[in-house]
Amino acid sequence: MTAMAMTACTGPKTDVASQEADKDFNYVVDKFADLEILRYKVPGFESLSLRQKQLLYHLSEAALMGRDIFFDQNGRYNLAIRRTLEAIYINYEGDREEPQFKALETYLKRVWFASGIHHHYALDKFRPEFSVDFFTSCVKGLSPDKLPLREGQSVERFLEEISPVIFDSKVMPKRSAQSGDGDLIKASSNNYYGGDISQKEVEDYYAKLKIGQDTIRPISYGLNSRLVKEDGQIKEKVWKVGGLYSSAIERIVERLRMAIPFAENDAQRAIIEKLIAYYETGDLKTFDAYSVLWVEDTASEVDFVNGFIETYGDPLGMKASWESTVNFINKEATKRTRIISDNAQWFEDHSPVDKRFKKERVKGVSAKVITVSMLGGDCYPSTPIGINLPNADWIRRDHGSKSVTIENITEAYDKASQGNGFSEEFVWSDKEREAMRRYGFLTDNLHTDLHECLGHGSGKLLDDTDPNALKAYSSTLEEARADLFGLYYLGDPKLVELGLLPDNEAYKAEYYKYIMNGLMTQLVRIELDKDVEEAHMRNRQLIAKWVYEKGKPEDIISFEKKEGKTYVVVNDYLKLRALFGELLAEVQRIKSEGDFAAGKALVENYGVKIDPELHAEVLERYARLNLAPYKGFVNPVMREVKGANGTVTDIVLDYTEGYAEQMLRYSRDYSFLPTYND
Ligand code: ZN
Repeated sequence: MTAMAMTACTGPKTDVASQEADKDFNYVVDKFADLEILRYKVPGFESLSLRQKQLLYHLSEAALMGRDIFFDQNGRYNLAIRRTLEAIYINYEGDREEPQFKALETYLKRVWFASGIHHHYALDKFRPEFSVDFFTSCVKGLSPDKLPLREGQSVERFLEEISPVIFDSKVMPKRSAQSGDGDLIKASSNNYYGGDISQKEVEDYYAKLKIGQDTIRPISYGLNSRLVKEDGQIKEKVWKVGGLYSSAIERIVERLRMAIPFAENDAQRAIIEKLIAYYETGDLKTFDAYSVLWVEDTASEVDFVNGFIETYGDPLGMKASWESTVNFINKEATKRTRIISDNAQWFEDHSPVDKRFKKERVKGVSAKVITVSMLGGDCYPSTPIGINLPNADWIRRDHGSKSVTIENITEAYDKASQGNGFSEEFVWSDKEREAMRRYGFLTDNLHTDLHECLGHGSGKLLDDTDPNALKAYSSTLEEARADLFGLYYLGDPKLVELGLLPDNEAYKAEYYKYIMNGLMTQLVRIELDKDVEEAHMRNRQLIAKWVYEKGKPEDIISFEKKEGKTYVVVNDYLKLRALFGELLAEVQRIKSEGDFAAGKALVENYGVKIDPELHAEVLERYARLNLAPYKGFVNPVMREVKGANGTVTDIVLDYTEGYAEQMLRYSRDYSFLPTYND
């Protein structure tokens, strides 16, 4: 299995409400463009020990120190543009309600959210709705010392350099080109490669490095560096202390060091020390050693990710974005995932896939439910709801992986969506709505648990199958495999027997929600006339459309009309479950055999194209609800409380900070990189 496909799943599955709203906590913080900003609670923080809180505090500081890195990775002008817009935003003396200024404010909020000038999900460059003249006059109105000018650069030259990057739709149009026949590196404007290097040159460079490598435990070449061509020479610029991004990485290391005295045990201390050694040397063998220590530590209650981890942003899947999450275990909810992982072998043995593609021995499934207390880099403000790491295949094979469900995030999504009119608009009847209200939060989380903890880890490749055989379709098919594994077992009486579900009705809530989302409501994220692009979304449509088509003769799922509006109705849940099983068996076969043609056909026939009439209807109905299709989070503010003699007596959380306020504070207190990092 590929590293890309097996990793974090981003975004909530649907937007449907299911529980009673929290009256005194304000989940919704801000709303602009296609985004809604929420905040999350950190339940259980107060009852942690002071030592654990201090550990979380220092790790959380480390989580914020690398913020600029992710901006720069996403594009070499991102820091210049962010800093310029912030200077305007802070110092503007005109009418702040004036449309041009409002448009600039919205644009800045989007840049903050996406950590750059391209949409975080669609990856296309934003179109500013303020004029180049307005921007120019704002910049000229600032004292030059407030602008991120290059050494000796005039304001005029600065504007000549920066304005086309913001306003010209042909300049840096796409953050990362994930498909197409041309040179994907040249078509991508992110900053993982530089100096007009070609895709072929990149591929040749790494192919050469891999000659004679350890194929049993291959290191993740290219993971922590930018590859550039300078004066005709190809060079790797490693992200480390003393290398590229040093000034931010030094701060991360400093905070990690401050965390060490509060480590819960020797294993955790060793993990932090190894991570520091990796940041100091940039040595990828040290990173692997760190990952092994990390995955084997299942005893610590506090846990964290901090580093160059996910490779979704690189069209070649090598370069990792910087991210951090800091968290502690949710013991009560983890009872649920422990039951699942304790029974992992049972699930593998009883799955509907061909025996040749099953693992004889499932190993190392460690699953827990966590509460995050700080998000940074590529996990902020847009946040995954589940993570499965590490990504290196050989570490997963020999040492297993850690899989988590982030329940305080799923809870915030759930709470924020209550009473927003979405389910009243799109769900067929009160019967489905009632089932979702009753079981939705539980079955949604359980589906994520099964997806992360069992789905991605299940099955095996035949011995002679090339792990990269499915190429550009691998991410979609891998997500489909994991989702189907979860869906199939949600409807299994075994889950009731294990005490994971209260009765044999509960699973229907998730089935309905999944099908409605895959056939209809996820289309709210896509512009009219465009195809489904993103892997998780393609996967959901693929599954929903396939079972719809296959179920047609028996009318298992139907589209119904009521007062001119289209609804999805599931007529037979048991037969739907059987279809999930059938498709799971087929997707596993495709993966195990590396059947590219069948995989491509499945994705292209079911996952990509949209019925334009239904799409227009869904968009129109959604627009009237005035909701935002994408969500992200502000972090709580974490503060040390000091006693009379200066010793720390407590760490407290504050949930009152606004979105712009938080972003400006981060830019002031956690910004260490130069504007241009060459
Ligand atoms: Zn996944």
